[in-house]
Amino acid sequence: MKFAKKILCVTLILAAAAGAVFAGGKAESAQGTGQIDKIRNVGVLKVGVKPDVPNFGLLNTATNTYEGFEIELSGLIAGEILGDASKTAFTPVTAATRGPLLDNGDIDLVIATFTVTEERKLTYNFSTSYYTDAVGLLVKKAAGISGIAGLNGKTVGVAQSATSRKALEAAAAAVGASVKFAEFATYPEIKAALDSGRVDAFSVDRSILRGYLDSETVLLDDAFSPQEYGVASKFDNKELAAYIDGLIRKWLDDGTIKALIDKYNI
Ligand code: GLU
Repeated sequence: MKFAKKILCVTLILAAAAGAVFAGGKAESAQGTGQIDKIRNVGVLKVGVKPDVPNFGLLNTATNTYEGFEIELSGLIAGEILGDASKTAFTPVTAATRGPLLDNGDIDLVIATFTVTEERKLTYNFSTSYYTDAVGLLVKKAAGISGIAGLNGKTVGVAQSATSRKALEAAAAAVGASVKFAEFATYPEIKAALDSGRVDAFSVDRSILRGYLDSETVLLDDAFSPQEYGVASKFDNKELAAYIDGLIRKWLDDGTIKALIDKYNI
């Protein structure tokens, strides 16, 4: 009898302790200490996007709004977290600024033609890829360059912190071409260097190059080094990263992402 009472007593104490832990967990989530709760508390999803990649992320200067596939993807995520696809705050990013902006907590996510690489996975979380592009080459029509082999001895403009230089080095070596590089902070600067003749070609993902195509230039058929774009988050934010990955997987499965890719014809 005495023993049974003791057992009951211990059970009650354990149950109470478990209840306290559970209540503590609940209280914590209600106050918003989780990474997704924090976004809910702020009331807006902060996303770093490209301002200058038509059909992916483009700032429409006439309306001062962002448009494109990656902008709609950001809205879908905001819809899931905040129940309203318009609750997004966009920050324009470049290949060089997007990582530091995540690191210092200025933005929650980067959805900006950000290629998933093994090296980058050591410092950022990436979702399952939502789009695959390839690196390409933009040259002046007048230069008469018809393919990567024609770049032997020429200078190619690439962006700092982009995957382009490494990709092009490998592709050029494969056809026995030796290429020189000039690195720039932004894509408009590379295009200006191409126009002025300072570089002979502009190399980056083909989706980005399409935005710089004009009557004087041609996008070569060369397409090398697949670029898988993922949604990136700060390395510590594992809870947010797992949640975002779940959404991307769901939208890959149910055709949502395919419909957006078709909509933008990309
Ligand atoms: N997608 C490539 C990268 O992540 C090109 C750079 C860019 O996205 O601006 O490095």
